[in-house]
Order: sequence, then C-alpha cells, then structure tokens
Amino acid sequence: MPELPEVEVTRRKLAPSLVGRRIAKVHTTRASYFFLTPPARLARELPGAKLVGLERIGKYLLVGLDDGRRLLLHLGMSGQLVTAGASSVRLLSASKRASLAPEEQTRFRPDAHTHLRLEFDDGGPELLFRDVRKFGKVRLLEKGASDPRLDRLGVDALDVTGARLFEATRGRRVAVKSVLLAQDVIAGVGNIYADEALFAAGIRPRRPAGRLTRIECDALARAIRKVLLRSIETGGSSISDYLAPDGADGAYQDERRVYARGGEPCLVCGTPIRRIVIGARSSHYCPRCQR
Ligand SMILES: [Zn+2]
Repeated sequence: MPELPEVEVTRRKLAPSLVGRRIAKVHTTRASYFFLTPPARLARELPGAKLVGLERIGKYLLVGLDDGRRLLLHLGMSGQLVTAGASSVRLLSASKRASLAPEEQTRFRPDAHTHLRLEFDDGGPELLFRDVRKFGKVRLLEKGASDPRLDRLGVDALDVTGARLFEATRGRRVAVKSVLLAQDVIAGVGNIYADEALFAAGIRPRRPAGRLTRIECDALARAIRKVLLRSIETGGSSISDYLAPDGADGAYQDERRVYARGGEPCLVCGTPIRRIVIGARSSHYCPRCQR
C-alpha cells in the first residue's frame, strides 16, 4: 500500500512533466466507487484546464488547475500513477505476466484497470491512473472547497515533532503502533514505516502510548522523519504494486530492518524478529533491541 514516501516520490517525479500542460481530453472507465466525482463530469469539465501545481497532503495528491479547482487523487491500496511510455511488469495482471516472456513485458498500454487517462493539448505523454483493486479515489474539488478526508488529517509525518507525539499520546492506553497509524494524529505513516520507525527508536509496537517518555517521543519523531526521508531518497518501497510514474521500482524494501521479516534474524543482534497482530495489522519487532 503506498504510504507517504511513495506518494511523495510520485509527486516529485510527476510535477515537472505535468505542470504547465493543458488537458485536451479525459478517458475513464464507467462510474464506480473509484470516482467520487462522476466520470462523465470529469470528461466534460476537465478539458481546457491547465495544470498549475502538484501538492501532497498526507497520502493524497492534489493537482492544482488554473481556474482554482483541484483534482484530488488517492492511490488507495494498489493505485499506480504513471506517464504513458512507462514500462514495468507491475503494470501487467498476474495472468498476463505469466503468459509473456520477460523481454515482452515492456511498454505499458492502457488496460481495463486504467480508470483515468488525461490527454494533453501538446500531444505529449498522457497521465494514466491504473488501479486493479479500485480502492483509489478521484474527486474534483471546486475552487476554495476542501474534502472531509483532508480536513481530518493530522500533522504531516515529515513535520512530526516529539512535542506533538507526546501531547497526542498522553492518557492513551492504546498501543503506540496504533497511534502511529491513526491518520488524524500523523498523516502519511502506514504499516511499513511505523514498524521501521519503532525499531529505529528502540520502542516495542505494543507499548501503551501514554507510557512513552518525552525523550522516547523525541526519538520516535526523529526516527519517523529519518525512515520516511530515506525511503523517499531510495524511491519508496515496491513490495506489491507500487512503482514510480516512469515505471521504476523503489528500493527501500531492501533496507527494511523488521517489516515482513518475521522469524528472520535481527540485523543488529541476531534475535529472530517477532511478528504480532495489533489492531488487525501485522507488526514486526526485535524483542531484544526494542523495549
Ligand atoms: Zn535486535
């Protein structure tokens, strides 16, 4: 599932190739829960609009239009935002992948899972939003309008401080891991980076949040920022579907210390990494390095 780093990498790679271009035509699949704004309306109202900015809030992307409206995009579980010409086996269905020789799994062509496709008046590369599981979202926001999904978000994870974490956890008996995943406290942290940050800070995921000391909150805030920035630097994590707009894979999955390493030795002390379930999500930690 794309988290803050993957969305930020997408934003950084897409912005230079999108900003300044004018939409000529919009192609969509038929109406579904993927479209918070009916696809027919997108096809009618977007052509003619010029893209003036690409912003990220938490795990959401906001495409600024020259008339003040904004296009809200969320990648959901398996969303892929790519430019035409992107090449990756992650853009093929499993059955199609199996039927093709590796050297034939090249240039992507829009398929049944490509729910939104923007053509530009310069005739250059199109923007494609593909999502096999359709948990992604598209919504056109009127000028000055917001969305409840954005209004509910807490501080952006790249800006989180120990003071904010300390304040948000006082009096809370819930596991610290659950607080990290609550988007209304910190926006952008998901399962991978919560586990990695807790390991880096030496804190067990099941610790009651309210028992964290101020010093531990400082260490945890630092660890969150560090883990996220390092992931952005390496292009994000490509564990299942995520890929960059040009089709490139991220490399952060190769730097994971605990996430999805249950039973494998801790890279610091050799103790087997433990996998537990907290709030229906799997959590991974080293019982020796984390207290
Ligand atoms: Zn360890």
